[in-house]
Amino acid sequence: MIATRNAGLTRLAAFLPHMADDYATRRNYDLGVHSVVSRLSPFLRRRLITESEVVLAALGQHGLPPAAKFIDEVVWRSYFKGWLELRPSIWRDYCDGIASDLVGLDLARRKTYDDVLNARSAIACMDAWVVELTTTGYLHNHARLWFASIWVFSLGLPWRLGADFFLQHLLDGDPASDTLGWRWVAGLHTPGKTYQARADNIATFTNGRLAPDPAQIAPRYPAPAEPDGLPQPRALRDIFAPNPKLPTLLLITEEDCAAPPVDLAALNIRAVVAVTASHLRSPTGLSQHVAAFETAALRDTTRRLGVADAPIIVANDPDALIAQAHHAGATQIVTSFVPTGPLQDWLMAAMPRIAAAGLCLAEWRRPWDDMIWPDCTAGFFKVKKNIPSYLAMAGLLPAFDAQKDTK
Ligand SMILES: Cc1cc2nc3c(=O)[nH]c(=O)nc-3n(C[C@H](O)[C@H](O)[C@H](O)COP(=O)(O)OP(=O)(O)OC[C@H]3O[C@@H](n4cnc5c(N)ncnc54)[C@H](O)[C@@H]3O)c2cc1C
Repeated sequence: MIATRNAGLTRLAAFLPHMADDYATRRNYDLGVHSVVSRLSPFLRRRLITESEVVLAALGQHGLPPAAKFIDEVVWRSYFKGWLELRPSIWRDYCDGIASDLVGLDLARRKTYDDVLNARSAIACMDAWVVELTTTGYLHNHARLWFASIWVFSLGLPWRLGADFFLQHLLDGDPASDTLGWRWVAGLHTPGKTYQARADNIATFTNGRLAPDPAQIAPRYPAPAEPDGLPQPRALRDIFAPNPKLPTLLLITEEDCAAPPVDLAALNIRAVVAVTASHLRSPTGLSQHVAAFETAALRDTTRRLGVADAPIIVANDPDALIAQAHHAGATQIVTSFVPTGPLQDWLMAAMPRIAAAGLCLAEWRRPWDDMIWPDCTAGFFKVKKNIPSYLAMAGLLPAFDAQKDTK
């Protein structure tokens, strides 16, 4: 898969005819070729194309009732991003728990864990999904649900280790969608509500391509519990707006590869630098596909900004970033909002050194996120029922109406 905005736009155009009935009726089928889902997730995750662009395209082609299911799914992404943003301790607990989950595996479960990761679990569907994930960087949503359910309830493995495995390999790997997808399956997102994979369901929705033995995938382990329950949502993290007067280093990250919603010409930009951070996704490794996709997406972004040769540094020692800023004579680093996740962890840990080097950090947050994230305090329903008003607020419904008028 090519990691450019153009490739994302091409995929979007190709999927446009399928965003209504095809999607609503067949999206749950995992037929191996994935023609009934968009496969836009690696592009949306990095905002090579944005949620509002995709939603506008769906509205323009089909209108709101027919494209509603597809738009709902795109908004699920925003919901999970906002939900984690309001509860960053869930991400912190996830990161802290991976090492203890690994250490806590007894010999039998350590073997099960190694066997699954090496596609020799003896459960043919699990092995097939591992091969697909590790070779393509993608799994259909239904396969992710089945895989996570069998991992947790049939094999008794810790959900965090499964989420970590996904993050290492998914091209769309996202701290919010991944951890909260796993928590949803395990019954931690909506306490008491778990997702249980069933052999007949797998056979039906793969058209018989995968037909596990019901006994092999029967649930044997209880849902994991969190005695303290869910943390209360907090307010969105405060950010400093860019100061147009300060000499500025523009920092590009995979969190947002779209054209910035701020007037770059009004900023005093001295240089552009991109930073790779995928290696921070997991303490246990990273697929080469993911690393290559991220670097290519960043290069495509600097190229579109007119700086094809902008340095791409690695989020390791913050001195590399500081050196770029000093070299450019910048006193301000400006970047898109860095949401809860490994890049934010790195940046926040680097802040004392960045500040000591005489640099300040400013961010912009997209209106789409400011509009939806504050509502992500409870279940998805609260967000879903507001979708028509979000679309109107974002100016997408009038845009749709205007397009319709000219047809
Ligand atoms: C255990 C588990 C882990 C997951 N991990 C990730 C992840 O790391 N990154 C990720 O982007 N998605 C994740 N998902 C959500 C979902 O599976 C993928 O977004 C979807 O399969 C991507 O394929 P697509 O682009 O063809 O989706 P489509 O069905 O075409 O949907 C269009 C877009 O809507 C969004 N979307 C669709 N379904 C979901 C969903 N359930 N949650 C959040 N957003 C959604 C995606 O951005 C997707 O590109 C996970 C789901 C589960 C159950």
